[in-house]
Amino acid sequence: MTNSLLIGAIADDLTGATDLALMLARNGMKTVQVIGVPTEGTSFGDAEAVVIALKSRTIAADDAVAMSLASAMALQAAGAEQFIFKYCSTFDSTAAGNIGPVAEALMDFLDVPIAIACPAFPAAGRSIYQGHLFVGSALLSDSPMRDHPLTPMRDANLVRVLQAQTSARVGLIPLDIVSAGPASINALLGKAQQAGFRLMIADAVRDADLRVLGSALAGARLVTGGSGIAMGLPENFRQQGRIGAEPVPERMAAPKGKPVILAGSCSTATRGQVQAAIDAGRPALRIVPADVASGVQSVADVANWVLKHTSTKPVLVYSSDEPDAVLAVQEKLGREEAGLLVEQLLANLAVILRDNGFTRFVVAGGETSGAVVAALGVQALQIGPEIAPGVPWTRSIGEPDLALALKSGNFGAPDFFLTAWDLLDD
Ligand code: ADP
Repeated sequence: MTNSLLIGAIADDLTGATDLALMLARNGMKTVQVIGVPTEGTSFGDAEAVVIALKSRTIAADDAVAMSLASAMALQAAGAEQFIFKYCSTFDSTAAGNIGPVAEALMDFLDVPIAIACPAFPAAGRSIYQGHLFVGSALLSDSPMRDHPLTPMRDANLVRVLQAQTSARVGLIPLDIVSAGPASINALLGKAQQAGFRLMIADAVRDADLRVLGSALAGARLVTGGSGIAMGLPENFRQQGRIGAEPVPERMAAPKGKPVILAGSCSTATRGQVQAAIDAGRPALRIVPADVASGVQSVADVANWVLKHTSTKPVLVYSSDEPDAVLAVQEKLGREEAGLLVEQLLANLAVILRDNGFTRFVVAGGETSGAVVAALGVQALQIGPEIAPGVPWTRSIGEPDLALALKSGNFGAPDFFLTAWDLLDD
């Protein structure tokens, strides 16, 4: 059998992996998403692209490196030609990493002298100019990302942010070089390599910039960035006649069963979606971390509430809160502890609901989705129709058979929780 695997990707969180898998699928590649480091028995089937979803964004850098290298080894053993290290389009990371350490370790493992770092995703409002990341019209450091519960981003200069995380020298590919085309990009990369640079933040403000970068990166063994950087990569394989043009389905058949919405993201977009669902009259239950910590609010109580209030329409369980409230509870419980408490409650709730006939889940939040899907025992996902930029419906491969929409906190229009269901068939 000839090897079909062309792109092997490692993503530092689950919704980011889904976003990337959708990008590759939309550009014509047969794509499978695998949850967690593949084990020996994991089959990639006839996939042309595999995206491994880790939960390595906020863990200790050493652990993130170890998981990423183990994933790279599995992808290399399966014959992957080009590797992508995918992180968030808002460059979510702590002061200690993990983008720098993981990128450096993958470069060493794959014997790559220089790689680009480009989280730009113009369709979702993330653009990079002079190395500075903008979220819509605001600098990253002035955007709501400055108040993220786990990875507050207070500096928009990505060259500086990345340089603080790695001993590899970090440089910039400015927009005029990107606009000048693949030859200019590669000439600059060559010069930068000679000058001792190893990681290059690449400016990109429009999809066209990402496509030019993609074209320049034909044959690059490692590419690092957001899902946007993958936009132009499949075309390189198409030009070589190695992939066809698999269309992404417009609707998806979902297993029979009840629906539910679980929101553990405090991002602005999710808070708006929570409000829109409440305004539309959907039953909604709020998780209060301090009450969970004190035992006043238990998973059994929450599950009973969901079972009682669910009709054919989904109800909403959410912990989403304003930055001030998040800060207050973090001061009381600790940042990680508060996060884990909520993640575990929603994950345990998902398991109880699965055991009570729930098969359709919309989950908001990257870390939250990671916790929920791990608890549900989902191992791999098939990519279905696109609900919003970067967010597809997915269906689990094997058991349990579930329909899952895993939404990065900041993605989706205000009516996402209400309209996502319209794309599912019985
Ligand atoms: P996003 O995709 O918006 O980054 P994540 O799920 O990745 O969302 O991260 C949100 C984090 O905040 C999770 O660890 C979650 O458990 C935590 N969290 C959720 N609600 C609250 C809250 N009310 N107070 C403190 N932390 C919270």
